Amino acid sequence: MIPLRIIAGTLAALGFCLGVTFGRMPATSAGTKPLEVFQGGIVGKETIRFYRSDGGIFSALLGIDLEAKPGLAKVSVKETSAGGGIRETQIALKINPRKFQQESFSVPPAFDQLSPEVLERIRTEQEQLARVFATSAAQPLWQSPFMMPVQGDISSPFGYRRIINGSPRAPHAGVDLRAPMGTEVLAANRGHVVLLGDFFFSGNSLVLDHGGGLYTMYFHLSEFKVEQAAEVQKGDVIALSGMTGRVTGPHLHWGAWLSGARVDPFELIKKLSGSSGNSSHSAAAAEKLEK
Ligand SMILES: [Zn+2]
Repeated sequence: MIPLRIIAGTLAALGFCLGVTFGRMPATSAGTKPLEVFQGGIVGKETIRFYRSDGGIFSALLGIDLEAKPGLAKVSVKETSAGGGIRETQIALKINPRKFQQESFSVPPAFDQLSPEVLERIRTEQEQLARVFATSAAQPLWQSPFMMPVQGDISSPFGYRRIINGSPRAPHAGVDLRAPMGTEVLAANRGHVVLLGDFFFSGNSLVLDHGGGLYTMYFHLSEFKVEQAAEVQKGDVIALSGMTGRVTGPHLHWGAWLSGARVDPFELIKKLSGSSGNSSHSAAAAEKLEK
């Protein structure tokens, strides 16, 4: 019997991410080969990546998008044993609605009445982002815990439903943190710079790939401090905050993307504090178990 554990518990809210651990108990006798599990659990149309974590357990992180439909969702996990046997396990998730507040604000007409040229630019930018999100490193690069990119209060929380210039718009897919112009922005964890550029809404934007389908995003920057494709460590200065793009004042927009879902970046700090996706760390933990 293969135990299935839900680590992070709370399935209670949209935009939350949860950790699913799937695997076997640590080996009790020498020479027992761990069961191999291949990537390929599916939620909706998204593929979730499994990776080896502490004690020979295979883990995956699953994000629930902030606009995911409340109700029951099925996660289908397919495992392939070393001997080639395949078996499928279903996990039922109950997605509960989370109450998101509403906020209203105004932006200049240039960000509201969009010309065909601007719409074309936005479409190209969205495609560029989609390509980036399709190419995450297979193995997680991050180590718990994640850290805040700036030390600032929240000026606009995650998921707020927005009324801009009097019309309902897309919900807020990240968190706005207060940051005076030129504040150093730190990498929330180890990763690669996979996108760096000037975007219509998000201004100077930087995206880090932390591997395993997990990304963090940093928007409205005034200056980049790293280059495309650079590997950064947790806490490295990657940029300076600013007020580029569609903003009402200087701040840092911090977002997170997990295998197709827009999730609350604070979940990375709260839910991933006791786990690690990093294999070298896991190897050390596995060693400890053997002694
Ligand atoms: Zn924002």
